[in-house]
Amino acid sequence: MNEERLCLDCGTTLHGRADKKFCNDLCRNNYNNQLNSSSYNLVRNINNILRRNRRILEELNPGGKTKTTRKKLSAKGFDFEYHTRSYQTQNGKTYHFCYEYGYLPLDNDEFLLVKREEV
Ligand SMILES: [Zn+2]
Repeated sequence: MNEERLCLDCGTTLHGRADKKFCNDLCRNNYNNQLNSSSYNLVRNINNILRRNRRILEELNPGGKTKTTRKKLSAKGFDFEYHTRSYQTQNGKTYHFCYEYGYLPLDNDEFLLVKREEV
């Protein structure tokens, strides 16, 4: 299989050496500047939090539906401030989702963990 390589900055197909990552110096500089910009770091940090949250929910909920506690979520580094969407049921309960994994706060610091098959 000959995998097509794309410029990390602009996405143009690359030709030539197998270790080539950019079209030219302009793309290389552009990419490196973006890596170092604070707005890019903000996006990257939030993406990392969301991915970590999702991984934690996946770990705690391998079967697709279970209960856990705030303590267990926190111990793994779960950040309750970030989620990708929320969903309110007809009876007024609000689920928060990190991608396909969701949680619903219950009484006594317990949480119901769920998984959506379709997104
Ligand atoms: Zn390029």
